[in-house]
Amino acid sequence: MQTRFTPQQLNDPAMAASEAVIRKCVHCGFCTATCPTYLMLGDELDSPRGRIYLMKEMLENEQQPTAEVVRHIDRCLSCLSCMTTCPSGVNYMHLVDHARAYIEERYDRPWHERLVRGLLARTLPHPRRMRAALTMARWTRWLGPALDRIPHAGPLAAMLRLAPARLPAPASKKAAGAQGKRRGRVVVLQGCADSVLRPEIRAATVAILTRAGFDVDFAQGEGCCGALTWHLGRTDEGLVSARRNVDAWRKEMARGLDAIVVTASGCGTTVKDYGFILRDDPGYAEDAARISALARDVVELLADCGLPRGRSAPALRVAYQSPCSMRHGQKITTAPLALLESAGFQVSEPAEAHLCCGSAGTYNIMQPELAARLGDRKAESLAQRNPDVVATGNVGCATQLESRLGVPVVHTVELLDWATGGTMPLRLAAIAT
Ligand code: SF4
Ligand code: SF4
Repeated sequence: MQTRFTPQQLNDPAMAASEAVIRKCVHCGFCTATCPTYLMLGDELDSPRGRIYLMKEMLENEQQPTAEVVRHIDRCLSCLSCMTTCPSGVNYMHLVDHARAYIEERYDRPWHERLVRGLLARTLPHPRRMRAALTMARWTRWLGPALDRIPHAGPLAAMLRLAPARLPAPASKKAAGAQGKRRGRVVVLQGCADSVLRPEIRAATVAILTRAGFDVDFAQGEGCCGALTWHLGRTDEGLVSARRNVDAWRKEMARGLDAIVVTASGCGTTVKDYGFILRDDPGYAEDAARISALARDVVELLADCGLPRGRSAPALRVAYQSPCSMRHGQKITTAPLALLESAGFQVSEPAEAHLCCGSAGTYNIMQPELAARLGDRKAESLAQRNPDVVATGNVGCATQLESRLGVPVVHTVELLDWATGGTMPLRLAAIAT
């Protein structure tokens, strides 16, 4: 696509990066075929190609974002399905992240949007605050149906609906030593949502990795990866998170580190992008790039080193739901399926496996109607596989789908840990008793 950015505009590294992305787009429109919002709404401006036009016009002409442009960008899930489909290698993720930051700086959102976005940014990246907020949400769930009827209160109602009925105890941060032949040392990203909502994911990760021969540790001073605030366009807050984590992992690298293991694929996509995010920061660029190269989803690491030997897996039908951030963001497609199969499960994928389930970070809170349509569609295609259990690799997808399915939804690593000598996933144990 031809661009008309001025040399002065291109002195801004963020603008120069976006210009390079836009120039790669050849308007072919292949990406529209796999875009969930285009599929649902049928509007070119809700397709990747249409959004690229909108972002080009806005950035190139340094326009004040209009309500219409903001609406179409807000409806984007950042699922990155378009990046998988695009034959020209357009990095839509970097472009839309820049556009979101541009909008955040220049657009005066209505008060109710500012309220919800501020609430999410101040709560979700902080496990203690998130725990407190979820506890309050449990007490006020009964307000959900009433909020649904109040204009602009849909996101608050969605928050209440997503709050679990009960919160588990916080996840353990206890380091654990390798069992058997030692392969190396890893740190596990402690994360935000999964450590509060599903601490069993971390427990299964530590258990299987130690049996696979890794010393497993947790970095002091580490926090949220920054994905959440980054995707809200709150670049400064995202950068603070990224720099804090680089500082924490630098110390771990100095002690010898073979991988930074991530169990939520949304976080994995962001940590793998730290090298790009901090590319212009002389104090951080080099280490950020090393950290991105060390980041591994837990299934990637297990696929590389092989599953520890264990008991044979129970004959369960597992439907695998591939999170977009795993499939499109990190291009991890076959490893989870192959691992589950090699552990002895009967594995299948649903139709339209490339389509987002509607969770998409905070999308199911901020765009509850579209998210619900995608969630129902995904649940239906998973149910057609008649599974005993659904496996996924991101806590957001698990939360989005569980209430829509009549079977447990667990993290892939919980099944792999169980099949190789670990404990039965909590959600399976709950229905087995
Ligand atoms: S990220 Fe997903 S929703 Fe957004 S334009 Fe690309 S395919 Fe469509
Ligand atoms: S598939 Fe790629 S090149 Fe074609 S319109 Fe979409 S983003 Fe542009």
